Amino acid sequence: MSQTDYLQRFLFEHHAIRGELVFLRDVFQTITTQRDYPPEVKTLLGHAIAATALLSATIKYNGSLILQAQTTGPVNLLVTQCDQNLNMRALAKWQDDAHFAHRILGDGQMVITISPDNTTERYQGVINLSSDRLNENLESYFERSEQLPTRLWLAANQNQAVGLLIQKMPSLNQGEQAAGTEWEYWEHLHILANTITETELLSLDAMNILHRLFHEEDIRLYEEEPVTFKCKCDKHKMIQALKTMSEAEIRDILRTHHVVEITCDFCNNHYAFNTQDVDEIFSGGI
Ligand SMILES: [Zn+2]
Repeated sequence: MSQTDYLQRFLFEHHAIRGELVFLRDVFQTITTQRDYPPEVKTLLGHAIAATALLSATIKYNGSLILQAQTTGPVNLLVTQCDQNLNMRALAKWQDDAHFAHRILGDGQMVITISPDNTTERYQGVINLSSDRLNENLESYFERSEQLPTRLWLAANQNQAVGLLIQKMPSLNQGEQAAGTEWEYWEHLHILANTITETELLSLDAMNILHRLFHEEDIRLYEEEPVTFKCKCDKHKMIQALKTMSEAEIRDILRTHHVVEITCDFCNNHYAFNTQDVDEIFSGGI
């Protein structure tokens, strides 16, 4: 398939170990042209969107997986979102006087939220950022909280983001000996996968990467799945945002500008509300 943005799932036959590769070119470029991102922030965003797509595809659900990091570092906010159909959006905010030489994220927390559609129930996991490398933070979280050994390799340049994941799933009804063999096989795959370089991730396609790493393994391949950029903002959500502001403040803006404008941080879409709209919103009409 010649699409530029896709996710490739695979499974190691006779083992409860799965893998995924994701390639993001158009999605990455659409996200990174929404604002004037410094190259270091672009790379971080690339790692984050690749990781989010990979993690989203490991769970069966209808809804969104959101990764949000809030830190004291140069990049103080990072938000990435992916739904079950691999529609993605993301943004980052950084300090004006940011220096990226030492750390890019700094101290802080990252929250993984799984937000199913049609319900207000959410699952949230909190990760204390102990490393500047996103993959290491996520790996230790999966090890500790989910007891799902997971390894991620993330790469990004100024044009694209690529990620590789392998995950050891729980295997049922397994004797001690079989479980031991399974751990050995997991270690074997980890060693193989760990030989991948960033240059290879950024230059090879899924078939070539799988051949390069696992040509002696028995792999089942699934259909490639397209990944797309899609922002879920709409007028209704912006009205809800407007309602959280004080009416006096909004009336003030209207007096000066005759219109209140809200811009979506993810896609730069503008939503404009005139006096009549604001009257309706605050009279409960909308
Ligand atoms: Zn939007």
